Amino acid sequence: MIAVVRVRWNNTPPENVWTDAVMNEWMNPNTPFSLAHYWTRTSLFQADMRFYLFPPIAIDDPRAKTPAGGDSRQYLVDGVLAEVTRLFSPDWNLFERALLVFAQQTDLFGGGSYIVPVGDGSKSIPAAVCDLASSFDAIVQEVGHAFGLDHEVDGAGREYQSPYSSMSSETYGHTDPSFKRPVDSRLPVGVGLDNPPSDGQRTIGPYITPVQFYISKSMPSFNDPGTVYQVPASYIASPHTFRLTAVDAAIDSWPVRKPMLAVLPPSSSGGHTYFVELRRSSSYDAGFTHDGSNGAPMALAIHAVSPTNGRVRYVNRIPLEASPGDQH
Ligand SMILES: [Zn+2]
Repeated sequence: MIAVVRVRWNNTPPENVWTDAVMNEWMNPNTPFSLAHYWTRTSLFQADMRFYLFPPIAIDDPRAKTPAGGDSRQYLVDGVLAEVTRLFSPDWNLFERALLVFAQQTDLFGGGSYIVPVGDGSKSIPAAVCDLASSFDAIVQEVGHAFGLDHEVDGAGREYQSPYSSMSSETYGHTDPSFKRPVDSRLPVGVGLDNPPSDGQRTIGPYITPVQFYISKSMPSFNDPGTVYQVPASYIASPHTFRLTAVDAAIDSWPVRKPMLAVLPPSSSGGHTYFVELRRSSSYDAGFTHDGSNGAPMALAIHAVSPTNGRVRYVNRIPLEASPGDQH
C-alpha cells in the first residue's frame, strides 16, 4: 500500500493543499488521467496502487535542519515521515512506499530509502516526492522510481533518452510526446511556473515502455507468454512471422492478455537482446503523431537492456508512416 501524505509549510495557506476529494480521484484507478489510472494501466495492472490518504500535515521545512554536507532530500522525507509517525502512529508494516505531495513548490524526486518504525524495530521504504508545480508526466516518473524503475539511457549512458517512455519524461530523448488533457474539475489543478502559467497536471506523457516491467523484479506477473512474445533464435537464419498488439490496445484488452512486447535473442554469443513494441497515437500515447512532427512518430520502438548494469537503453525506432494497417 502507498502512504499518501500532503504537506504544507506552516506559512503556506491551507487552501493550497489539494482536497481529500481531489486526492481520492487522483488515486482512483477508474478516473481517466488520474495518477492511479495511468499507473495501473502502464504496468498492465501489476502495480499495487492501493493507498491510504493521511490528513494533511503542516510543518516547517525540515531541510533547514540539514547539516553541512548532508542530503537535504533525505532530511525532507525523513522529517515528513517522522511527523506522520508522531501524529498518526501508523502501522508502517502496511506500507511499501510513500507518496509526498507538497502544497508549495518544494522538489521533485523519487526512490531512495527512508527508515520508519515497525514494532520494536524499523524498516526502510522508498518515496516519490512532488509538489503542486510538478507536471503529471514527471510525477509519473517519480512514482516509477518508488517502484524501483530507472530512466532509459542512450548508447552513451545519457539519462532520459526514450521518446517512448515516461521514465524519460525529463527530455524524452529531445522529443515531446506529451500532450495536454482536457480540463477535469475532479482532478488536481497544478500551479504552473511558466508564463502564462499552465496547469502541469494536464501534461500527460506516454506509457512507460513495457521493457521496464519485463525486467522489474517487483512485478513478475507482467512477464507472461500471453503478454511477452519470445522470438525463437531461428529468426537469425530464416524469417519469422509474429503479431504484436499496440501497447495501448494490449492494455485496453486486459484482463485478456495480448502480445505487446517481443524479445529478440542475440544473434551471436555476447550480443544484445532487443525488445520491440508497437506504439501508436491513442490513449496515453496520443502525443505520438503520424509523421513524427513532434519528433516522436508512431513506430516500432526498440530498446535493449544492459547485461552489466540492467539499465534500459533506447536503441531506435522503425516509423510506421509508410506501413499499412491500423495506425489510428
Ligand atoms: Zn527520475
